[in-house]
Amino acid sequence: VVVSLSDLEKLAVLGHGNGGIVYKVRHKKSHCLYALKVIRSNTIIGINGIPNHVEAEILKKMDSPYVVKCHAVFDNGSCSDNGVSFVMEYMGGGSLYDILKHHRTLSEDVISEVAKRVLEGLNYLHAMHVVHRDIKPSNLLVNDKGEVKIADFGVSHVVVEEKEKESNGGGGDYDLHHYGNAGTCAYMSPERIDPETWRGGGGGEKNKNNGGDDFAGDVWSVGVVVLECLLGHFPLIGAEQRPDWATLMCAICFGEKVEMPETASPPFKSFVLRCLEKDWRKRATVKELLQHPFVNRGGCCNFSRKRLGDYVVLQG
Ligand code: ATP
Ligand code: MG
Repeated sequence: VVVSLSDLEKLAVLGHGNGGIVYKVRHKKSHCLYALKVIRSNTIIGINGIPNHVEAEILKKMDSPYVVKCHAVFDNGSCSDNGVSFVMEYMGGGSLYDILKHHRTLSEDVISEVAKRVLEGLNYLHAMHVVHRDIKPSNLLVNDKGEVKIADFGVSHVVVEEKEKESNGGGGDYDLHHYGNAGTCAYMSPERIDPETWRGGGGGEKNKNNGGDDFAGDVWSVGVVVLECLLGHFPLIGAEQRPDWATLMCAICFGEKVEMPETASPPFKSFVLRCLEKDWRKRATVKELLQHPFVNRGGCCNFSRKRLGDYVVLQG
């Protein structure tokens, strides 16, 4: 058990994110490996008025084979100025982003395996009233066994009671501002980018379905990731287009057609289209998708027998 940051020694830098650095660390006594994510405190945003220490408690409670385990959270750690440090399960296979950078595309059976595990992870989180909000390849990590898990709750939050939302003076601007800080909007759903259009109704009506569309936003992101894995590039804008905010926003909110690989199987196409339904009310839910043929193909012999582990890029 990691009791203090001084129990750990840094071995290497695993990666840099928006708000922090991730190190590979070793527990001095047990020699167990962990990932240590160090974030400057001013980059952590307590959404909807949830204090950060409450989020830390929620984080530590998460326990699922489909979610990267957070073992401990330390405030004002000795290795950062005024920072917060997260001691996480070490995922030796790196991220899906690394795998795609190296292999560009994955076969459908491997994508199906990834999709199934991500949906299981979301099913777990959503049951705990946690919306992830930042599902993207770099937040899907792979362990030494080749198992993918959902990581990074930097911008996820618990869906709070309506009352707390109102006392926060909440509104679309606040959310957009937050997302702006959170970095990429590429995997964000239309209703997260443009809540006014998709929530419908004003005033009291506005917040009514926050829970619903928040969960649906994670499903949208799954669709984008799954399609990217087969297409070999971010799917909602052309590979040659500039991925700036305005281009992305237009593509996500108003893009007419999804670029679907012709060779994709019918279950793949149907799965992606159920995720990338612009109107969140019509979009499939996580539970529905867990029943979808694409993630229940049971070793179909038409496809290669590759597993995600076969694609893992060796970490330095
Ligand atoms: P963002 O800041 O938007 O989340 P990001 O996901 O790229 O972007 P981080 O979450 O800080 O940034 O992670 C940076 C990189 O560190 C990841 O892409 C991954 O390669 C590596 N990493 C993160 N967590 C772990 C972990 N638990 N085990 C192994 N590697 C990890
Ligand atoms: Mg991340």
